[in-house]
Amino acid sequence: SLTIGIVGLPNVGKSTLFNALTKNDVLAANYPFATIEPNVGVVGVPDPRLTKLAEIFTSERILPATVDFVDIAGIVRGASEGEGLGNKFLANIRESDAICQVIRAFKDENVVHVDGKVSPKDDIETINTELILADLQTIEKVLPRLQKESRIKKDIAPKVKAVEEAKEILEKGDTLFAHGIVQGTERNELLHDLHLLTTKPFLYVFNVDEDELTDEDFKNEQRALVAPAEAIFLNAKLEADLAELEEDEALELLQSVGQDEPGLATLAHVGFRTLGLQTYLTAGPKESRAWTIKKGATAPEAAGVIHTDFQKGFIKAEVISFEDLVETGSVAEARAKGKARMEGKDYVMQDGDVVEFRFNV
Ligand code: GDP
Repeated sequence: SLTIGIVGLPNVGKSTLFNALTKNDVLAANYPFATIEPNVGVVGVPDPRLTKLAEIFTSERILPATVDFVDIAGIVRGASEGEGLGNKFLANIRESDAICQVIRAFKDENVVHVDGKVSPKDDIETINTELILADLQTIEKVLPRLQKESRIKKDIAPKVKAVEEAKEILEKGDTLFAHGIVQGTERNELLHDLHLLTTKPFLYVFNVDEDELTDEDFKNEQRALVAPAEAIFLNAKLEADLAELEEDEALELLQSVGQDEPGLATLAHVGFRTLGLQTYLTAGPKESRAWTIKKGATAPEAAGVIHTDFQKGFIKAEVISFEDLVETGSVAEARAKGKARMEGKDYVMQDGDVVEFRFNV
């Protein structure tokens, strides 16, 4: 499955956040015999639609979609030069499908900042500089050979041009992501085999003081710093406390700081979206469940997420939109009102589709 790597300077609250994430680990809750890796947190993406489906179908359990977060220790200035943990750090980032930067905005004299002062802007620059330098190194290793080759093999000219353009962007101090050159999209196609770090989708978690959670001016400033990446604002210590509480107590604590959902829930939603994922739903007496697919996946591809045999033997998908199902109250009633559609192999899955697959075995 796809993973989001959590990175950040020392003492910004990564471990605190990660501990809160693992307290919400859905693997531990739903699959007691699963092997749980110490640096991976599998977090459920809250979806109130599942609660509703579980009511309609009197399901025994609810299984939300999940996002995997990986704790990547050790970014320091000089990481791109392979200092200390640098090489391992870069290798770990390379394996992630998106990069979540944790940025310190909270002020606390008892917690030392590695660079002596709290400045989100400077910290973002420090981290991005390491990633950019690592990409420039990758490019400098391949570009001279590509340029030479292109004198004989004319068809690689577009690739050389793409690499040269990427180099220019990086030399200006920008990430490729900020210029819309993103892994998995057409604009990264010619660069794909270089596995450049800054082509990964970015998201930012600002670890803020409680009073900053509701400070819209402050938040807009930070959002402007990181756009087009999304920004999430949370207090890591508060999230750790919330993870220890019962639901109603947690809600009370949240409301006392002007929030209506835990920062971790927002993080799961934004992380999911940043990875380019969406869900479809299945429901029955055993479970109501959200299944993860890539945006734009077809019905057979969606079936394949449940079982490869479902994809191989795919015949049709019976699809009812979540809204229609709630309105009609049951599958039988939805069918009677003509709200159940039979979709074939070219159907592109839509968010909120409640599905039953028909297949040959
Ligand atoms: P890491 O090095 O990035 O993993 O940072 P830690 O999670 O270990 O946190 C470093 C220190 O900052 C610890 O003493 C935490 O208790 C403290 N800390 C983490 N988050 C917050 C926060 O939101 N507010 C305050 N005041 N302290 C925090």
